[in-house]
This record gives sequence, structure tokens and C-alpha cells, in this order.
Amino acid sequence: MPPPGWYYRLSTFFKEKFKEKVSKIPLDAGFSCPNRDGTISTGGCIYCCNPSFSPGALAREKTGTKPAIREQILRFQSRLEKGREDTGPEIIPEGFIPRRKYLAYFQAYSNTYASVSRLKELYEEALQTPGIIGLSIATRPDCLGPGVLELLAGYARDFHIWLELGLQSAHDRTLELINRGHNYRQFQEAVLKSQSTGIYLCAHIINGLPGEGREEMLETIHRINSLPLDGIKFHQLQIFSHTPLEWLYRQEEFKVLAMGEYLEILCDQLEILRPDVVVHRLLSEATSSDFLLAPDWHVPRALFSQLVEKELKVRRSYQGQKYAGTKTFV
Ligand code: SF4
Repeated sequence: MPPPGWYYRLSTFFKEKFKEKVSKIPLDAGFSCPNRDGTISTGGCIYCCNPSFSPGALAREKTGTKPAIREQILRFQSRLEKGREDTGPEIIPEGFIPRRKYLAYFQAYSNTYASVSRLKELYEEALQTPGIIGLSIATRPDCLGPGVLELLAGYARDFHIWLELGLQSAHDRTLELINRGHNYRQFQEAVLKSQSTGIYLCAHIINGLPGEGREEMLETIHRINSLPLDGIKFHQLQIFSHTPLEWLYRQEEFKVLAMGEYLEILCDQLEILRPDVVVHRLLSEATSSDFLLAPDWHVPRALFSQLVEKELKVRRSYQGQKYAGTKTFV
């Protein structure tokens, strides 16, 4: 039985698997999204503000350019290994060879939304950069066209590959309200067709979406438990300026979660989450406060994870303590 306060951290998973720390390098490969370019809709998800969470998308918006994938990776590695915090213009030292292990994290927008030949070019540029042991690819469940899974499954034979699929909520009425442009069934189908490929699968969810209370948020976890998912990334709903969600928020149609409320629901979710599901993240952190309208609380991720651990200890609980199911998948 795990000790009180335990949850299955991504850092623990990496240490178990690779015997050392692995860092993710956030990248902007210049993708768009079918929910923004008119293929599904032009509005995008009502909360979408990529520059608010993706350093690469933020840089692209500010400068109108983006460095090549290899350059983005080497800049990040050299900055991290020099122990520097600043993100200013970076000169990669001549002959720089990273000492640590990294995953190239294709983060901004929908990172499978291109032809297979273009995807291959971008992914292989990352995989051929020193220090890279695999990929983490964030995308939509309806964006796994012909050949994409085969491409990733091929890499999974030699590299460590995560596919991060945006779900946000398992409730179709919420998905419709937030203009996700896909339903729960499409998510379920994407997960089922990706299983047994050697690719690790992670779901993204958002707590505090309009119209959802505790029961809906817990139900989303029950449905995640029922699928062959390996990981989960939790986010609290954040309101960014110039999004349709800002308008709804200003109409006072819903309230964002206070920090205590978010902490409580998150711990409730962890208690029912399958114990083998790796927790990639507990909290969103905006890249820049310029965009953020609400909530008005901000806690650094490391401190927040201590708060979660403390709350679980107070409850004498841990991830999966209330998970009643058996690991069989639909
Ligand atoms: S799927 Fe992602 S990139 Fe596309 S509109 Fe929604 S949040 Fe934005």
C-alpha cells in the first residue's frame, strides 16, 4: 500500500524507467489547429490562448518567427545545463553536448496536424538532436489521420513516445459549450486505436469548466480509468484575455475555482484515479501574466504539489485509495 500523500509523479516514472531525471523541452513546430483554421471551426476552443502556456507560441507571437526544432532544443538544453533562468537570446556554446536526457515536447497547437511526410521531417529533426531520448506530442483526438499512429509506433520501438490527447471533459454537453469540435466518443476511439502500439497515452483534462460541478469532474476520472491510458495532465480553468471565454466570464455566467476548491477536487480525483496512471501535471502555469484574467491566485507548481501531498496526508489517503475497479478496458 502506498504511503499517505503519494501520487504517481512523472518524475518517479522516469526515474523507474531511465534511472535518472528526464526533462521535457517545450517546442513550437509551427503547427496550426483544425479547430482554428476553419476545418472544424475558426473560433477554436473558447479558452484557447496558446501563447499563455507555450513559451514557443509566445515567442512566435512576439517575434513572428520561430527557430528550427534543433535550435530550440539546443538552446533549452544549454540554458538548463548552465543553470540559467533567463530566456533571452541564447548563444549555444560551440561543441555543446548535453549531459542529461530529454524528451522533445511538441506542445504548441495540434502537433499531428500536417502530412505524414512533414511530421516525419519534424519529429526526426528532434530525435536526431543530441540528448533526445523520445517525443511527447500534444494533439487533438480527431487529429490522428492515416499513417500518423504507424509513424509514432515505428519510433516507439527505439524511443520513448508519449501521445498527449486533449479531452478536457468527458461530458459532451461541456465539449459542445467549449467548442472543442469533438465528442467523448472520438476521444475514446482515438485511445482505443492507439493502444498496443508501444506509444504511451496521456489525457489532458480541465477542472472548473462552465456548467460542471464535483460530480461531473469525478465522472471524467471514472471514464479515464475505464480506458487504456498511461498518464493524465490536470489543469485548472484559466480565463485569458481576447478569448470567447472572457466574454462568458464577464457576463458572470460562471465562477472560476478558488485555490482551496481546486485543491479539494483534485485530491478527490486523485483518490479515485487508477494507481498506475502517471500524473504529468497538477496545475497550469501561465507563461505570462499579461494574458491571465482569472483566477487571481497563483502558486508555483512545486509548492502546489507539496500542498496536494499535505492534503492527501491529512486525509490519510493517496492516488487510487478509492479506486474500486479492476484494470480491464472497454
Ligand atoms: S485544440 Fe488546442 S490549439 Fe486547437 S483550438 Fe483547442 S486549445 Fe486551441
